Amino acid sequence: MLTSVRSAGVGDRLGIATDGHIRVFEKYDAMPVFAQQSIRELNLTGRTYDDVLDCVSFAVFRNGFKKGFGADGDHLKTSEEVDYAIESGYTMITLDCSEYIDNTIDGMDDAALEAAYHADSTLEALYLDKNFEVEGETLRLDRTAFLRAVLIYGKALDFAQKIYEEKISCAPHAVDFEISIDETATPTDPIHHYFVAAELLRRGVKVATVAPRFCGEFQKGVDYRGDLGQFERELKTHAAIARHFGYKLSIHSGSDKFAVFELIGKYTRGNFHLKTAGTNWLEAMRLVAMKDPSLYREVHAFALESFEDAKRFYHVTTDLDRIPALDSLRDDQLPELFTQDDARQLIHITYGHILGAKNEDGSFRFRDRLYSFWRKEREAYAALLEAHIGRHLQTLYKSI
Ligand SMILES: [Zn+2]
Repeated sequence: MLTSVRSAGVGDRLGIATDGHIRVFEKYDAMPVFAQQSIRELNLTGRTYDDVLDCVSFAVFRNGFKKGFGADGDHLKTSEEVDYAIESGYTMITLDCSEYIDNTIDGMDDAALEAAYHADSTLEALYLDKNFEVEGETLRLDRTAFLRAVLIYGKALDFAQKIYEEKISCAPHAVDFEISIDETATPTDPIHHYFVAAELLRRGVKVATVAPRFCGEFQKGVDYRGDLGQFERELKTHAAIARHFGYKLSIHSGSDKFAVFELIGKYTRGNFHLKTAGTNWLEAMRLVAMKDPSLYREVHAFALESFEDAKRFYHVTTDLDRIPALDSLRDDQLPELFTQDDARQLIHITYGHILGAKNEDGSFRFRDRLYSFWRKEREAYAALLEAHIGRHLQTLYKSI
């Protein structure tokens, strides 16, 4: 079993490279993916794939960590980005197919679907009005579901096949290929997940993981929001489909989703890939709130100014009015902000602005002060991470 629990985004460098201690949770038999960045994250932090992997490799060396670890080029959208990650030695490629997914299909009625569809006898023979058995459950693509599947995912499948054939299958080192269809307008219907999986297999595309978009909301930095009953029913089918086709279910923006971790562990039988999203960064900022209140107040005020701009890059429903005003809080109350969803999202999505902000003379406004603070406090930071990531793992593996 290869289960990956990833440290994410800016958290990699903060949590691993400057931490001084890689925490290994031996009993979970997990293959960690220590380096994981999307192009969005590289741009927002002004980093490169080489830089991220160098920091992680050095930390692994310094700590005498002997197990393997992975490096994920996350949410790559073009063949140039895939080249960049592979050339940098990344062992996992997460192909984001969202730009090839047609989000206009969901609102169409049957007549509009028929009008948009170009008859494809091969696909009709394979899927239309066919029943598919997956672990005792019958999945069926009736005409409406079939038309939607072809129209929503057809171009994304073509793109995935092209990247697989041109980049992945002939890469200079082994690559775990992930198809991500999670950043789309609508949740992935389980029957559509089946269609995507079956088409990948038929087209000869070997995937290690697939990331559907689950029902409800997986927003950054906060717990799951949505109908737990529906989530459980659909997760059961998604997990069965992944097993049926021999890959792992990948869960994006997976950190802090304590309400669903036990279900994820249970239905995937521990064979999942969970990408954490910047939760290490939030722990790092919590530590600033705990130990350097005046620096925290400066950063928080700047985050409030930057929030509208940062929202261009992330889907969040944060209400800034619900965050207590800084001047109403005593210093010892500042860490409590990290138990409040809106404040968590405020600090979460503004990481790039905070780390990138410059003074008039070109020096960094916060970055150098933050990094020297974390270096000084790395024992305390490691303890926070161990508790927080440990709680994730305990909940994920509770029922296994
Ligand atoms: Zn994602």
